[in-house]
Amino acid sequence: MPYRATRASGASRASRGRCPAAAPRDPTPCEGPHDAATLVDRHGREVAGCVHHCARVLAGLEGARVHPFVPAGQALEIYSRARELPPFAWEIGR
Ligand SMILES: [Zn+2]
Repeated sequence: MPYRATRASGASRASRGRCPAAAPRDPTPCEGPHDAATLVDRHGREVAGCVHHCARVLAGLEGARVHPFVPAGQALEIYSRARELPPFAWEIGR
């Protein structure tokens, strides 16, 4: 299933005031700093985002992981949130 999370080094910064990891169709606001963590997709593309959106994206992005330089506590937080989320949570109103 094609899923374009973000254009990693996108020219256009993500929609107004949200972190680059926020999916365009995900209406939820950011939580905390916009560069709290970085995800790496299976193609090696990186995208920074807040903890909230990193978790949401991670839940639906097969083969993605949290970048190794993200502090362990933060990475754990993202993984544990992602585990509770369905893929593409926003599509079912979560
Ligand atoms: Zn965010």
